[in-house]
Amino acid sequence: MTHLIFKWVINGLYTYFDMCIYNRGGLLFSKEHNFTSEEFSRLPTLRLLELEGGNLVGDFKNFLLSFKWFSWCHCPSDLQVINLCLQNLVVLKLSDSKIPENWNGWGPCLANHDLKVIHLIKCCLSTTPNFSTCLKLRILVFAKHYPESPQISSSIGKLERLKRLEIIADRIQQSKLSGSPYFDLCIVPSTICHLKNLSSLKLEGLHMQELHPSIGELAGLTCLSLMHCRQLRKLPYSIGKLRSLLLLNVYNTRIRELPNSIGDLKMLEKMNLGCTKIRGLPKSVGGLQSLLDLNLRRSKITTLPASIGYLKRLKCLYMLRSKIRELPNSIGDLKSLEEMHLGYTQIRELPNSIGGLESLLNLHLCGKKITKLPACIGRLKRLKHLSMISSKIRELPNSIGDLKSLLPLYLLRLELEDVKSPIVQPLPSKLRYFDHLILGRYGSREIVIEQLESLRRLNVEDCKSLVKLGLSSLGWLQELIIRRCPKLMEIRDLREMESLKVFDIETCSSIERLPKLSELYKLIFLGICDCRSLQWSTESSPELSKHGLLKLSHCESLQGAVPNEWRCNIHACPLLGEYGDLPNFCEWCWQSKRGPRARMRALHC
Ligand SMILES: [Zn+2]
Repeated sequence: MTHLIFKWVINGLYTYFDMCIYNRGGLLFSKEHNFTSEEFSRLPTLRLLELEGGNLVGDFKNFLLSFKWFSWCHCPSDLQVINLCLQNLVVLKLSDSKIPENWNGWGPCLANHDLKVIHLIKCCLSTTPNFSTCLKLRILVFAKHYPESPQISSSIGKLERLKRLEIIADRIQQSKLSGSPYFDLCIVPSTICHLKNLSSLKLEGLHMQELHPSIGELAGLTCLSLMHCRQLRKLPYSIGKLRSLLLLNVYNTRIRELPNSIGDLKMLEKMNLGCTKIRGLPKSVGGLQSLLDLNLRRSKITTLPASIGYLKRLKCLYMLRSKIRELPNSIGDLKSLEEMHLGYTQIRELPNSIGGLESLLNLHLCGKKITKLPACIGRLKRLKHLSMISSKIRELPNSIGDLKSLLPLYLLRLELEDVKSPIVQPLPSKLRYFDHLILGRYGSREIVIEQLESLRRLNVEDCKSLVKLGLSSLGWLQELIIRRCPKLMEIRDLREMESLKVFDIETCSSIERLPKLSELYKLIFLGICDCRSLQWSTESSPELSKHGLLKLSHCESLQGAVPNEWRCNIHACPLLGEYGDLPNFCEWCWQSKRGPRARMRALHC
């Protein structure tokens, strides 16, 4: 069966239907159908055609004359057609095809002097056709070629009206050396640089070592992308002449430094220097007065010049996993900065000036290098997200409580190592604006959380040393989740939580008793899983509302009567039996199958 899609225009309206042509030979015909001139004779007004596989066969004289748009996936390497002339073709798209050097389709496809667009995607193509017949071409795209970049006909230099040129390799490629009339892309030749109307140039993943200095002549260029050109070591000084440039992308190249002229790119809005060998930026970078987005992710950058402070419009600064060691004081002058990623860098301390980042919304400080936050952090009044995953920050300044816009404070894996005495690190008393607090791997034996009047959600997870958890005056808390705290013995002051709706405790093997739950009138969910020592007592019985759910699983010691009126799901609690709407899949059982107690537990499930 060949799948054939016709699209054509009747009275200005696009109509579209799928037509399947069945061949008698069975399923193996899929890419073998021959479309004959007779079949097309019934479609004299056909303007758009999309084909997958097959071939054109026969004499096409005076057919397909209205043809404007032609897309062919898996086109044949040898067209079985005579007198084909697509004299009105405007858009040609070929994909997933093996096109030989002297393909007999080029003649008919490139016959129209007004051809505007050529897209060749995933084509195995050793050389490009000669473009001399279609000098009005606006868009030329070669994308995802394999096994090697095609050799480009030097006739490309004649395409004076070309606006967009993309040569994108499927993967990083070695380019062949070649002779006339083709060139390879070891060096971006001056031929391309003669395309004066070019607005977008993408040469990605090519084995290119240099850009010809005449690149600076492309005065209308707004987008230049050279990403994944892993042999490219530098940009020519003439790059500064690209005064219209909005986007410069050299991600994943070997560029070591930027020329001073970079500061002349007054229109530049986005610069991606990620994954490069760049160690420092020239002072002139302060001249990039339109820059909104600077990406230095995974680069070798160690310092930023003080002139960075002149980037008054900069909104995003990405330095994740770069080698940056310190920030200049002028960083605080970035009054428009909304997002700063400093995760997993070499920075140990933040300058006080960061308090001046008055627009900052997101600050990412993940990683183990930063051990201290400056007090000025409290001046970031618009800060909504502060991320400190895997942080070794030992002390939170009291001013953190002034961050009134802050949404969840992620203190995940706040590791307080070497904590000897029970409460070396009390939580700051002024955390009162937080809505959601996540304490993970918190190293203390005792955590006392109080006066967090706005707190609605609290997670305490993976606190291996925690014995006592004190929670007082959390009158607004609605959700309490405690997981994997193997030494936890006591949870105090729970009964004051008048708003608590959800209480979930899991894998706390030392806890024997839950606090009194009978006064928690709003509780609608109580979940207890894998608390091996837990005993049931009448005191711990909650006053679950009618719609509430009690979910007990994997609690070996739990025994006693569960009141009939409750909606219960009980699973793998040998002394209580098993009933309720049990889930088909117990995540805990599944996880524990890898552990040494797996077999024992499997018996209960
Ligand atoms: Zn289970």
